[in-house]
Parts: sequence; structure tokens; C-alpha cells
Amino acid sequence: MVTELGTLSRRRVDGAGLADIREKLDAGVRLTMEDGVRLFATPDLTALAALANRERERRWGDVTFFNRNVHVNATNVCEASCIFCSFSRLKTGDAAAYTMSLQEAVGKVKALRGELITEVHIVNGLNPDLPWSYYLDLLRGIKAERPDLHIKAFTAVEIHYFAEKYGMTYEQVFRELIDAGLGSIPGGGAEIFHPRARKKLCDDKVDADGWLEVHRVAHRLGLRSNCTMLFGSIETNEERVDHMLRLRALQDETGGFQTFIPLRFHHENNKLNRLREPTAFDSLRTYAVSRLMLDNIDHIKAYWVMLGVELAQLTLSWGVDDIDGTVREERIYHMAGARTPQTLGRAELVQLIRDAGRIPVERDTLYHVVAEA
Ligand code: SF4
Repeated sequence: MVTELGTLSRRRVDGAGLADIREKLDAGVRLTMEDGVRLFATPDLTALAALANRERERRWGDVTFFNRNVHVNATNVCEASCIFCSFSRLKTGDAAAYTMSLQEAVGKVKALRGELITEVHIVNGLNPDLPWSYYLDLLRGIKAERPDLHIKAFTAVEIHYFAEKYGMTYEQVFRELIDAGLGSIPGGGAEIFHPRARKKLCDDKVDADGWLEVHRVAHRLGLRSNCTMLFGSIETNEERVDHMLRLRALQDETGGFQTFIPLRFHHENNKLNRLREPTAFDSLRTYAVSRLMLDNIDHIKAYWVMLGVELAQLTLSWGVDDIDGTVREERIYHMAGARTPQTLGRAELVQLIRDAGRIPVERDTLYHVVAEA
């Protein structure tokens, strides 16, 4: 573990023309939009890694977090038409459209009775055919089955949809969900905030201000949340940094984000299949710049399902301190061509963290330590 740059790393960083950014980081001075764009532009990935790794190790040393969780995607029917999405189907009855009965959805958790998981993660399409009670009963059903589980459910996009469809404010939506068992919300649906890219990617779902407002209300009500950025489709580096700065500004205000999760674009089975997927180089660079720009968010997570296990392992030296969890049954990115397994066991997660020279620590959703592996 290092918290200061060695002479060689320092030379490398300065040789890459990043001495002024290093000096700012040394002095605890916040990076600007221009700094972020320059970091994205540097071809010297080793210099970038040295800076990002130092920030990671200042916070967490060698510790790398993971958890034991299960994903439930109860329906893929979705009124929205995000062009990068391979998971959704527009209408009930369309080929490959599905909506689980409550019994089926709760059954995903029931099937794991006796297993040491700590979290259920629920994300769905925006289904026009379901009543509000479906979502409340889903949470109640899971809590009845496993009161010990933390339920992290419904992206800001879904919360906004619930508020509009069922005629409530964000606060009313949250209060009813909390009563039914909601523990926190995931970070999905942020995609890219900048209006140029957002208009092309996902014009018919909540805009950037709405997404941020949902999280603002969640944080005010005492819920913690995560935040994400979809990278590697049509956005520019300036738009990536703009996205990070909007998240940083809300975090200054509320302090409610736990983790930033850059999500790598996949191109299969969606309208962007003419695009190349992001390279390993671009992925590592994005994680590193995230760690350096988001000075007020504790954790940077590599979601191994989207990134691939080997690349996720590499990110642990590019600013990342969390590798997500066991997952169990993932649909969203496998429908977009992800080649990763559907699940990794606890032992496999521990081993891949150890093989990267880090110390695995099992956490719960709110980053309480469950066990040091
Ligand atoms: S990304 Fe979410 S909101 Fe957009 S089409 Fe897919 S499921 Fe629907």
C-alpha cells in the first residue's frame, strides 16, 4: 500500500504533463472541468493509474469491498425507449417480454432460504400495466420471507415514473416504499446527464434535473443511494466530466451517495449495435478519472458483470475499491451481450480480489463490515 507517489511515479506523472494536477491533489485542491478533460486526454495510462491508485489507497488502503446479493428484475416491459437498452420490451405480449407474478418474484428470494446473502437489488422496466400495490406487495413479500435482507430497489427513473403514474410526489412514493421495506435506492438510470447526449440516448425518461431531485429527496428522507454513469456510447469526454461534476455538486449538498459506478456500454441487441464497445484502455481511464474527480464520494465500484472479471480485477489499481457482489441472476447486461457468468460465488470473489494483491472485505449494502475474508 502506498499513499505517496514514489519518485518514478512522480516523474511519470510530471512527464505526462500532469504536474499541476498532481500538485492540486497533493494540496487537497478540487479538480476542475478542465482538469478532468485533460485527464481523459492523456495517453499515459500508467501516470493516470498512479494518481488514481494513490487516492484509492489514501481512503481504503488495500481493502476491497464485495457483498453477497441477489438481483431481481421483476418485469422488462417498459414504456421508455432508451436506444442503448437491450433488456426492455415495449408491451406486455411482445416477444421476450415478461412480468413476474408476485409469487414468482418473491420466490427468487425464497429459493435462497438459509443462504448468507445480505441484499436484494431490484430494478425493472417502466411497466404501464402494473398497479402501485404490486411494488409495495413485492417489498412486503420479500420482507416477510427474509426480514434480515436489505432491499435496494427502484432507480430514480422508476421513482419518477411511479410519482407521475400513480399521482404522488417523490416524497409520498418514498414514504410508502419505506413503510413496505425499502432500505436504499440503486444508482441506475443516470446514463449521461448532458442534454445533447441524453436527448439521443433516452429522450423519454426523466431528465438530469429530475434524476438528481429524486436522489435529493431520498437523501433528505435518510435513504442512502448510489450513482452511475453509462460510458462508451455516444458521449464526449466533456460530457463525462460534466456528469461527474453534477453528481459532485449534489453530494456536496446532501452527502447521501455511497458509491459511484461507471457502467460500460454494451452494444448487442440494441439500436447502437453499429458502435464499438469501449476498449479496456478507455474503461480503465474512466474509473481512474472518476476516482480523481469525485473527491466527496467514498467508493468507486467496478460492476464485474458489465466489465468482465479480469478487467474488473485490473480496475483495483485504477481507483476502484468495490467489485459488487455475487449477483446470482443478471438479465439486463446479459441481454446486451455480456459474456460474464450469471453469478460468482463468495470464494471466487475473494480469490479474484486476493489475486489482485488486495484485501477482500465483505460488506452489507451500507458498507458495514460483515466479515474480513
Ligand atoms: S434503460 Fe430502463 S427505462 Fe430505458 S428502456 Fe431500458 S428498462 Fe426502460
